[in-house]
Amino acid sequence: MKINSNLLVNFGLKALALVAFVYFTNQNFSQRLSYLISDQKYSILIVFTVLWVFSILVLFTVSFQQKAIYRIFWGAIIALTTAISYGFYAAGGSELEVLDVFELWQARHEAGRAVSYFMDATIKAGVVALIGFAVIAYPPPKLSNKTAKYLGYTAWLPVLPILIFCSLIYIKSDRAVAGLPKQFSPISMVMAIGYKSLMHTPQERDTVKSAPVKPPKAKHLVYLIDESVSPNYIYSRQDQYLKGFDDNLNKIADFGVAVSGSNCSARSNAILRLGATRDNLIQTVRTSPSIWQYAKKAGFKTVYIDAQASGIMATKPNDYQNYMTATEAQYIDKFYKVKDVESPQLDYKLLELIKKELLSDVPTFIYANKNGAHFPYAENYPESEAIYQPVVPNQNGLSGLMDSNSKSIGMQSVINAYKNSIHWTVDKFFQQFFDELDLDDTVVVYTSDHGQYFKEGSTTHCSSGEGAPAAEGLVPLMLMSSNDGLIAKFNEAATLNFNKSDHFSLFPTLLNLLGYSEDMQKSYGSTLFDEPNDRNAAFNTGDILGIISINTIWREVTQEERLENSLVTSPAKD
Ligand SMILES: [Zn+2]
Repeated sequence: MKINSNLLVNFGLKALALVAFVYFTNQNFSQRLSYLISDQKYSILIVFTVLWVFSILVLFTVSFQQKAIYRIFWGAIIALTTAISYGFYAAGGSELEVLDVFELWQARHEAGRAVSYFMDATIKAGVVALIGFAVIAYPPPKLSNKTAKYLGYTAWLPVLPILIFCSLIYIKSDRAVAGLPKQFSPISMVMAIGYKSLMHTPQERDTVKSAPVKPPKAKHLVYLIDESVSPNYIYSRQDQYLKGFDDNLNKIADFGVAVSGSNCSARSNAILRLGATRDNLIQTVRTSPSIWQYAKKAGFKTVYIDAQASGIMATKPNDYQNYMTATEAQYIDKFYKVKDVESPQLDYKLLELIKKELLSDVPTFIYANKNGAHFPYAENYPESEAIYQPVVPNQNGLSGLMDSNSKSIGMQSVINAYKNSIHWTVDKFFQQFFDELDLDDTVVVYTSDHGQYFKEGSTTHCSSGEGAPAAEGLVPLMLMSSNDGLIAKFNEAATLNFNKSDHFSLFPTLLNLLGYSEDMQKSYGSTLFDEPNDRNAAFNTGDILGIISINTIWREVTQEERLENSLVTSPAKD
């Protein structure tokens, strides 16, 4: 009898640990359940319940396998997928979705930076992985031979929920596995995306149909895309620009707060480069001629500068980011990846390269990705330039681990580090930019890929859905030149479109600057020189490639939401 009660205690403890593990790692379960009940989605509710019961059953069969090898194998997989979704939730406060998995894969070269920025979440994920593995792999009580034999038949049963979840995503939608057990759903997402990506054959891009009808507006064009720069941080106080802009207002036409194409780097940059339109997003992203094709057709040498390939990440020399493909890159004459410089010097190296290219006799088109206020913020500036204090400490090693868990670090220290980044990579950068560059025959289009949203326990950008915070999609937008005639024309446009423009107007604006016909410009929408319309601008928060879903998701931005992010009341006038 003694053996039996021991068996019972052992069984009970392991079962209890397993249930606790599942309970604490499925934060969205109750939310999803109450949504299905309150919206009376009873058929989905039944499927949801059946899948949950089945999944729990599978987890039990795995945990009580008598052969250690099965418990170790499945324990490792289940612990890992649970940890990934748990870490994602800890970092941003939202459930891991299919699109997130896709974006994470696209931005895998950022893994080093992400781990360092989200150290707290990474540690939590590590702990969850260890606990999960221990709970499943820990030896179960010894069962009778007969029971053990039957249980042995179920050793590969976890394949089933994974495949079912995967098919649900494939057949139903990318939201189909919402609230389902995180012990299986992340791996199903990876499989579904992998399959969808394999099945997705990129369409061929159109060629540029007709040559420019006018000479270009300037000899050189620079398309300067900053990183994570929010418009209300480019002022030092009400109606006062940062010095880098303030000293050079005679060379700047400020369009105020603009709405970005998306709230995530890769999607925003792809929209800017690939001639995307708001009304036909996926098709244009797939097939429009790229900005490189238009620039080349207009007789420009094309240059790409990527200043985000910092040393903390392992990027291969030709590792394209932001959805760029080898086919697109064929139209780039000179491809720079800024490497082997310290993070605070990335943008200054980029400036050096722009300066060098602008000395060219050949008309040159440059698309440059600044490093700007890339996370982790504290790495973007030299220690001596940390003018806002206190800041988040450099979260490295054990001391970083302790610090990141101390409650004394509030949001303000994160914002301070962000402001120090802006101070160094925007304010000081533009002081040098205007000092060193001759913009007499050059036009610079300056914007950021997306904005930043600061709230405890929330991601700063890349939120999904129609409810994403407006600040994630609000960006500065300026045209710059030292040519008096051009800047006068730009200022007129800026007055007309102040706080009214969006990223979708930039592609037709560039076609205008390159000398393409009005019809050609119009086919991409209105330019910055056209009268604004009454339609609210919006940024995309879904899949722009149409791989996961062909339904595009937009976050509309009201005029009030723009104004909340601006400290300037009227266009810049020197
Ligand atoms: Zn970005």
